[in-house]
Amino acid sequence: MLTVESLEVTYGSIRAVARLDLALGAGRVAALLGANGAGKSSTMKAVGGLLRPSGGRVLFDGADITGMPAHRVARRGLALVPEGRMVVGCLTVQENLDLSAYARGRRRKALADDVYDLFPRLAERRRQTAALMSGGEQQMLAIGRALMTAPSLLLLDEPSMGLSPALVDTVFGAIAEIRAAGMTMLLVEQNAALAFPLADHACLIQRGAIVAEGTPDELEKDPATIARHLGID
Ligand code: ATP
Repeated sequence: MLTVESLEVTYGSIRAVARLDLALGAGRVAALLGANGAGKSSTMKAVGGLLRPSGGRVLFDGADITGMPAHRVARRGLALVPEGRMVVGCLTVQENLDLSAYARGRRRKALADDVYDLFPRLAERRRQTAALMSGGEQQMLAIGRALMTAPSLLLLDEPSMGLSPALVDTVFGAIAEIRAAGMTMLLVEQNAALAFPLADHACLIQRGAIVAEGTPDELEKDPATIARHLGID
């Protein structure tokens, strides 16, 4: 479903992603793990159309989407939940959901009902202004907004960032439900313990390149490598 070939992202003279390759089949979940500054978000942004890669190709559902802007990529069924959530603070929960949806009428209502089933906290707060919600609730809303586009591929950039342990449990419980429903996902995390139970395949990234990859079971056989690449030794 997703193939990333020799992806390169540069910011001026800084090379954030260096010849990164990735393949993700339908219904599978891949995790990108790495320390701060490893190039995870840059990879996600380049795949999701938020920045134009300086090299390489991104293929999605057989089409070359390299450099295609995010709104067109989203129309094709690829939804990105960015780091930092990016919900519209002055709008309510319901308005944020409506804003993302392409579907109208009953189909849109059904999508919103699914989001509210997944996150009852959002249902309770559907008329609340997004800016007044906690970080965890905003993360739920950001995921909900992505689901409103009825995506076939979901990119999640560090959904645990800045959340309390209880809210991490809630958000990752929901991600596990989304996975169980068959969603294809690319998940960026710094916390391997959160990502591994969800992932079929995991890649460790350092300085913009994959330095180790395999199933979580394979990678867990070498905890020293994981610790070194995640900067937790
Ligand atoms: P984090 O977990 O801290 O978000 P990351 O693995 O997602 O880290 P990136 O955000 O992709 O890493 O950053 C990779 C490198 O690119 C870093 O050296 C970072 O400083 C640099 N970088 C990222 N965005 C920009 C930008 N807009 N301009 C210049 N340099 C950038």
